[in-house]
Amino acid sequence: MKFAGLFEIELECTGVRGCIRGVSDTFQPRSLHDLSFSELVEVLAAGGVILHHARALWRAIHRDCELDLASRDFLPPLKRWVHESVGEGKAYFLDAPEVVDEIRSSDGLTRKFLLRLRDGQTIETVLMGYDGRQTVCVSTQAGCAMGCVFCATGQMGFVRHLRPGEIVAQVLHARRVLKTIDPKKRLRNMVLMGMGEPLHNYDAVMSALGSISDVGGCSIGPTKISISTVGVVPSILRLAEEQRPYRLAVSLHGSTEEERAALVPASKRWSLAMLIDACRQYGAITGKRIFFEWTLIAGKNDSPETAARLVELLRGIDAHINLIPLNPTGGFAGTQSETGHEFQKILIAGGFPCTFRQRRGIDVAAGCGMLKAEKRVRATV
Ligand code: SAH
Ligand code: SF4
Repeated sequence: MKFAGLFEIELECTGVRGCIRGVSDTFQPRSLHDLSFSELVEVLAAGGVILHHARALWRAIHRDCELDLASRDFLPPLKRWVHESVGEGKAYFLDAPEVVDEIRSSDGLTRKFLLRLRDGQTIETVLMGYDGRQTVCVSTQAGCAMGCVFCATGQMGFVRHLRPGEIVAQVLHARRVLKTIDPKKRLRNMVLMGMGEPLHNYDAVMSALGSISDVGGCSIGPTKISISTVGVVPSILRLAEEQRPYRLAVSLHGSTEEERAALVPASKRWSLAMLIDACRQYGAITGKRIFFEWTLIAGKNDSPETAARLVELLRGIDAHINLIPLNPTGGFAGTQSETGHEFQKILIAGGFPCTFRQRRGIDVAAGCGMLKAEKRVRATV
């Protein structure tokens, strides 16, 4: 930090470096994107700036996706505060991840971005535009600790949690891009299905979703936001107890403990039995439908017997099952479409709505973590 450097030089001469250095080292600029509206109000109030201006700043950041606050036509008190407080070496900054790679699907409806964060970590964000609906898929962690064997992110391992602002910034980036494609289109849907496990980063994710669904900002309706989880049982129960308004999607992939554990190592911590029990409790507390994600992997979880067991496992749960064709990774192959349709028929006959997840545009390596993995290979070559 600029401040720390200055302090160090001055204090070295006076010989008191050791005791004061700690103070200068604790100077940590904060992202304005990390703040909820009420936190922003507090921050501005501490600087003598009233609520009216906090609203103007919130709208500029979240509704207008502004990254250049100095250029805004704010009233003098806010303009002064922005000048004194926001920018490199000042107390606050804006999260503006740099696009280091972008790929577009051949139909032009899907764009996948590799974004570089302030510390150099890279994450993926996808803007999807099929069926007339605009959806953003965001990452919640750099890497992932859950280690699913078919997932490129899981194979990278865990690096760190994302801050709320780093999650919000992905949505704002997608909105900026959408504005350049068609200013009339609105981003109305969001899925937390990028890199990372959202329920392993609960507080940051909830804080980000609060900002993203705020009607004075991005205004993505909470019921249009889907949180996808590998099955972090305590967090599923917490979502229910806190009556969070978002949709829940549970990535299941196995109908027995053994079948699931072979694909999803996290199920050794939270067993299939515990997960299904948590889903039943979630349904009972919230009265909401749960979406189950099932990535079809040839010879691993796509047999008619597995489908029949899945029907029994979910019996009594208000469930919708999404079948996802595998994006082939490390030795795993996707299910043949005929086998997949047989699987689907059994679930439907068992009484469950069951659809194939849209994979149009998947020619852009849209599997979770695959662009980053591919980029690494390209860099090595
Ligand atoms: N960690 C969360 C959300 C991110 S993964 C979760 O696991 O649910 C989002 C979805 O992508 C999950 O359902 C996951 O199983 C699926 N997925 C991961 N890698 C995939 C691949 N190679 N092909 C198809 N689906 C994949
Ligand atoms: Fe993590 Fe989800 Fe990938 Fe599993 S599928 S490793 S939980 S990101």
